[in-house]
Amino acid sequence: MSQIKIANLQKSFGDFTAVKNSNLTIKDKEFFVLLGPSGCGKTTTLRMIAGLELPTSGEIYLGEEEVGMLRASERDIAFVFQLFALYPHMNVRNNLSFPLKMQGYSKQDIKNRVEEAAKLLRIDHILNSNISSLSGGDRQRVALGRALVRRPKAFLMDEPLGTLDAEFRELMCLELKKLHIEIGATTVYVTHDQLEAMSLADRIAVMDGGEILQADEPSIIYNKPKTKFVASFIGSPGMNFISLEHGISKDQSSIEIDETKFEIPKQFEESKENKNYFGIRPENLTLTDEDGLKGFIYGVEYLGSRKIITVKTKVGEIKVRTDVSKKVKINENVQVKPSNNNIIIFDGSTDKSLKSEFMNNG
Ligand code: ATP
Repeated sequence: MSQIKIANLQKSFGDFTAVKNSNLTIKDKEFFVLLGPSGCGKTTTLRMIAGLELPTSGEIYLGEEEVGMLRASERDIAFVFQLFALYPHMNVRNNLSFPLKMQGYSKQDIKNRVEEAAKLLRIDHILNSNISSLSGGDRQRVALGRALVRRPKAFLMDEPLGTLDAEFRELMCLELKKLHIEIGATTVYVTHDQLEAMSLADRIAVMDGGEILQADEPSIIYNKPKTKFVASFIGSPGMNFISLEHGISKDQSSIEIDETKFEIPKQFEESKENKNYFGIRPENLTLTDEDGLKGFIYGVEYLGSRKIITVKTKVGEIKVRTDVSKKVKINENVQVKPSNNNIIIFDGSTDKSLKSEFMNNG
């Protein structure tokens, strides 16, 4: 398996640039997720890596080799379109053999490769079983096996779980992660679902408008987002943003809004200009009867083990995460205050988090 590197990669369709000057290094054996909203350029990036789309400019390296202008069939990369698109009338062995037969491999070669892949995926005991008798997890293994028999340097997957219902999808996510750990294949996976990305990825690249905004481990993406877009796209719901112009700065290390004190982490103390704003996640806020930012309850969402309460305040709508047992009523007057100093300050003119270099080293 191999490292994949893209350098200054760009793709235009006529006047429209779908992927802008992208740079990434996907490490050997890494599970790497391209995440972003519809139309942000994820699939186009993946298709360029696969060789299904030629770059307008820039390079793609597979290991040491520059493959940007090679055909898909010359790249040693397996594109897994749909994890469940198997041939239902064939048994497991024939499903695994089929792509090799099509490529004209000898009978012995096919047997060796199928048995090797089946062993690696732990499906060697079901080689003679019918597809219809298999569990979802085993079907997923067979689908990956079909790509693995080609002994590719990397796997590419475009929303492979997209058509499944939520519960099955969660289960298949777990299976896929386990499988990746077992076979250790470099994998690039496209999704618009941030929860799927967070649970699968070793690292995530968040994209918007054809650009890669941040590529980091899930916990860094969540806790140290580099831009407002990343902070709001990641999390359910995303981060709250409050302009500093609403506040009074009585000392270096805090800002007061409506006499509610928000402690500012040390690295942001210099950044408290009025044009900037701060971000705070719903779980770092709490509802209180006093000492808080005054407002009223505008909405309540039940999310299983927790509730998200939307409070309308003079600084805008603020989302607060509470325990499900917390009793609240629409239109009830409440107050909101921070439960810690987990705050990030963003530059009001660029929407980038300030001190992001410091944050990423920290
Ligand atoms: P989705 O999840 O909806 O597939 P995406 O992030 O994968 O979104 P892409 O499919 O990469 O996005 O598309 C990026 C942009 O490029 C979109 O605006 C799309 O309409 C445009 N695009 C993609 N392929 C072509 C094409 N062959 N011709 C013209 N425009 C295209």
